Amino acid sequence: MNTIAGIDLGTTFSALARLNGIGRPEIVPNCEGERITPSAVYFEEEEAGTIRVGLEAVNCRQLNPERAVRWIKRYMGDQNWKKSIDGHEWTPQEISGLILKKLKQDCSIESPIHDVIISVPAHFDEARRKATMDAGTLAGLNVVGIVNEPVAAALYYATTQNVNGRVLVYDLGGGTFDVTILDIDGQEINIVCSQGDHALGGVDFDKKIVELFQEAYRKEHNAELIQNEQDRAKYEDEAEDVKKTLSRRNSVRKILYGAAGSVKVEITREQYVQAIEPLIARTEILIEVALEEAKSTVSDIQKVLLVGGSTRMPVVQQRLKEKFGFEPEIAVNVDECVSLGAAIHAGLTLLRDNPKKVSKGIATGLKEVRLRDVCNHSYGTICAPIDEETGRHVIRNSIILQKNTPLPCEATQTFYTMSEGQTELQAAITQGEDEDPDFVNKIATEIFTLPPDRPANQPIHVRYSYDVNQRMHCQFLDEGSGRTLEVEFCVGENGQMTPAEIKQAAEAIGSANVE
Ligand code: AMP
Repeated sequence: MNTIAGIDLGTTFSALARLNGIGRPEIVPNCEGERITPSAVYFEEEEAGTIRVGLEAVNCRQLNPERAVRWIKRYMGDQNWKKSIDGHEWTPQEISGLILKKLKQDCSIESPIHDVIISVPAHFDEARRKATMDAGTLAGLNVVGIVNEPVAAALYYATTQNVNGRVLVYDLGGGTFDVTILDIDGQEINIVCSQGDHALGGVDFDKKIVELFQEAYRKEHNAELIQNEQDRAKYEDEAEDVKKTLSRRNSVRKILYGAAGSVKVEITREQYVQAIEPLIARTEILIEVALEEAKSTVSDIQKVLLVGGSTRMPVVQQRLKEKFGFEPEIAVNVDECVSLGAAIHAGLTLLRDNPKKVSKGIATGLKEVRLRDVCNHSYGTICAPIDEETGRHVIRNSIILQKNTPLPCEATQTFYTMSEGQTELQAAITQGEDEDPDFVNKIATEIFTLPPDRPANQPIHVRYSYDVNQRMHCQFLDEGSGRTLEVEFCVGENGQMTPAEIKQAAEAIGSANVE
């Protein structure tokens, strides 16, 4: 029978879980016996063609940082990001594809996997979601869907712990932050809303410690500690160790070695907490925004669930306790619950879409679980209605699908052509809440060709839908001619790959020697 798996493709670590025979998720350790694998890639120089993924890649990084990639998740969907190695320009999808290939390879030692769900931060936009799915395809996986990380974590908590009521998931990982509010009633989960920041996480805390190192060094030697990329790689790794130690102890002592000599430093937890204060405050602001969106107050929240390695920092737990008046829940392993929940989500998705692939035992194990997710952003289009006061056209973003609408959802709006003989329409798809087009994200723009010789004011119906797998579909329909334009997020825009590019890259990754 097919092994059903969930993958947490994290900024700093990734994990893979599969469903056992009775529908319970369990972590599959990598071939080094570790339950999580660093999301790091290193292209060997000596052994040409060998690509190291995981802990070995982290260890090799200091040898030659130019041949290493870490924190690739921050660049998913960015068409300008490329890593040039031995004449090949690696895209974020390909680098992530290598990480996924390693996870797949290691898991296949026990049982081959094919159908997977990959998790993404709740606030990831369409380009980033599509890039994540493409990465899975490049690794030879059948990505049956994607799930938002806090939703996956909530699924795991709800099915294994006794959690009920209105719950807030505080997910602070290696590179991203999400806050999600949801209602749990037994094994029934209803997502209410999510907020987040895709550039706020453990990596940023590490940078603050590197800054403390640099300050101390300058003070002692009036010189720079970090002179090149090798130094940076070394001190970033050491900063992460210091940060983790400060979660257990009040201070850490270290000797820093630079070109101008060494210096002994002591970094206290107090100093560190002060340095990261603006970042913690930002997470609190996002909690407030989420509470407002959920029309809730602090007192409506019955439980706070912690997800992500950075929630191990005592300052996070203490601040949440001060805010909500009770201890946040740290009952399960914060590094693992997303992949465990993603495996449950994979089981639920296959049960719905392709039940033949699910064994009886798994189907029975999951039969009580119900999940209702919501659309994470507002989606609209750019139009030019007539302003009543001036009588002139004004450019506006018109929202078609509202944020936080339960999935699946669909909405249609009608717009009109502006001029006589108009043969083209710019079909723009936007993401964001603002009426002003400058304050929303244009996620796709295509030209819709219309028939010639027609008067103005021809109706164009724009239909957007959002499916339960967190993917959006758009259609523009010209009522008069019946012509349609389907906008797929797979054209070479926003860093996304065309089907031909995916095929070519999948072959390259399939034959790559990943260890
Ligand atoms: P995740 O993406 O959930 O795997 O979280 C990884 C992040 O958690 C990395 O930035 C780690 O440095 C951070 N992390 C893990 N353990 C600790 C700890 N004990 N204290 C502070 N940060 C931690």
